[in-house]
Amino acid sequence: MRIHRVYTHHALEPGQQLTVDGKAAHYLSRVLRVNVDQSIVLFNGDGHDYVTQVLGAGKSDVSLSVLSRLPAARESGLRITVVQAVSRGERMDYTLQKCTELGATSFQPLFSERVEVRLRGDKLDKRLEHWQGVVNSACEQSGRARVPQVHLPLKITEWLTADDGDLRVVLAPGAPVALARADLRAAVQIVIGPEGGFSEAELALMTSQGVQAVSLGPRVLRTETAAAAAVAVMQTLAGDFA
Ligand code: SAH
Repeated sequence: MRIHRVYTHHALEPGQQLTVDGKAAHYLSRVLRVNVDQSIVLFNGDGHDYVTQVLGAGKSDVSLSVLSRLPAARESGLRITVVQAVSRGERMDYTLQKCTELGATSFQPLFSERVEVRLRGDKLDKRLEHWQGVVNSACEQSGRARVPQVHLPLKITEWLTADDGDLRVVLAPGAPVALARADLRAAVQIVIGPEGGFSEAELALMTSQGVQAVSLGPRVLRTETAAAAAVAVMQTLAGDFA
């Protein structure tokens, strides 16, 4: 029987017994319909998988015993931050899901002129939680034990000031340099525009601050395609697809 892998926010330690509730409990008891003694792999984003055994399963909580800790070596040596202008509903979800599968390290949502999604207060909190849920599920499916974090959205100017020395590139249709020719380093931040692209002024601002404009070839890709394609290109050139 296939052993299921499930994300939990709980700290995990071999020898420990724990009770999970909320979404994870619902998923275990209602969706997977786990039975007593069944083996389940849990992970919490600390880089390990934990083999557990079900002790009891109720409707809203499931208790498990943590048997062992396994290293899960599925991370790329290339640290990729996907800096994605907030796109609409499914498109943003697609970007988060596919880029997580492809090995991105973290996500920085960006507000730019042509972003059509308005998010503040409660709505923003809910959306962030939803985005992180999409990433967590993609980790469950793809076997990743390090969970990429979805950061609080920033404006372009805010992101520009938070310079931490990573190589910074922006995908810009028609840029004279191909992404495949960029001099990739151990850590890359790649910026992708919203459905309507970046304005000339935004691109000029970014390039004036040392962000390199790069192209992904002669066709204009949808924002979510561009993000996934870019991560695949970088993993091939300098990450773990080689
Ligand atoms: N009409 C818009 C298209 C936006 S596509 C424009 O001309 O800018 C959405 C985003 O995907 C772009 O902002 C860019 O970051 C990225 N993108 C799509 N196709 C690309 C390509 N061929 N080269 C580089 N970036 C691309």
